[in-house]
Amino acid sequence: MERLFILGCGSALPASGRNPTAQVLEHAGKFFLIDCGEGTQSRLRESKLSFDKITHIFISHLHGDHYLGLPGLISTMQLLGRERELVLYGPKALWDILQLQFNASNTRVSFPFRFVEVDAEKELLDTSNINVSSIKLNHRISCFGFIFKEKPKQRRINGLLVKQLEVPNYFMNNLREGQDYISSSGELYKNEFLTFPPRKSHSYAFCSDNRIKANFSDKLKGVSILYHESTFLHKELPRARKTFHTTVKEAAELAVEVKPDLLILGHYSARYKELKELKMEANAIFDSVLMGEDRLVVNFEKIDC
Ligand SMILES: [Zn+2]
Ligand SMILES: [Zn+2]
Repeated sequence: MERLFILGCGSALPASGRNPTAQVLEHAGKFFLIDCGEGTQSRLRESKLSFDKITHIFISHLHGDHYLGLPGLISTMQLLGRERELVLYGPKALWDILQLQFNASNTRVSFPFRFVEVDAEKELLDTSNINVSSIKLNHRISCFGFIFKEKPKQRRINGLLVKQLEVPNYFMNNLREGQDYISSSGELYKNEFLTFPPRKSHSYAFCSDNRIKANFSDKLKGVSILYHESTFLHKELPRARKTFHTTVKEAAELAVEVKPDLLILGHYSARYKELKELKMEANAIFDSVLMGEDRLVVNFEKIDC
């Protein structure tokens, strides 16, 4: 996972400068789109993110601020002549809504489009370098978060040394996997001498709308970057409880238990024009906090950890 693009960090009511929830997680040259509130298409354009590179879309729940941008995005993909497969993860009713919309507009999706229902905590995707699973959140309607875990990476070859020692090309993958090298004259070279340690494997948890339940942090242990909604300041706790949302203080307390390298906040109520007070409330409890903002790009390699 290379970068996270925050395309929208507002909540249900429109707020100037903030779109509803949408994020793009860049992984190995592909994009995972996480939630797709209204306006996501224009944010994608502004951020120069290719629609074609979006291979998987994950929708947490069916409140409008998390998916109403999706029918438009799919239509645009169709208009652009997409050929690449698209996989959509979300509640069953999302697929029904899309079908109804396509039927009403006489749209025939001509690219391969696959739907995977998210109705429980389960593995959603497993490739040679990443694993994605769902986690149940506590909201007014069925709602799931997503955990993206990179698998251990390979060691990195010291190009200069292997060139000097004339290590044959066919042996490079063995070196990446950790094997020692014996030259044609019988000399042994330890792997650590010829390679650098692998880059750090990151994990990213996206926790959408959620009223944190006891022991929720157990599900997030080991996560290096944690996104959690923080709709209200803690003085609005009764409102947070009533609407099944989380306060900034509660999100920061969750981070104290999970111990990520970075906590990213978002889904702010439209009543907060500025984020200063929210940041202070978070930092009083947890140091490493990034206030999510529309158009913010987080480079995972640059996170100090
Ligand atoms: Zn929401
Ligand atoms: Zn919601």
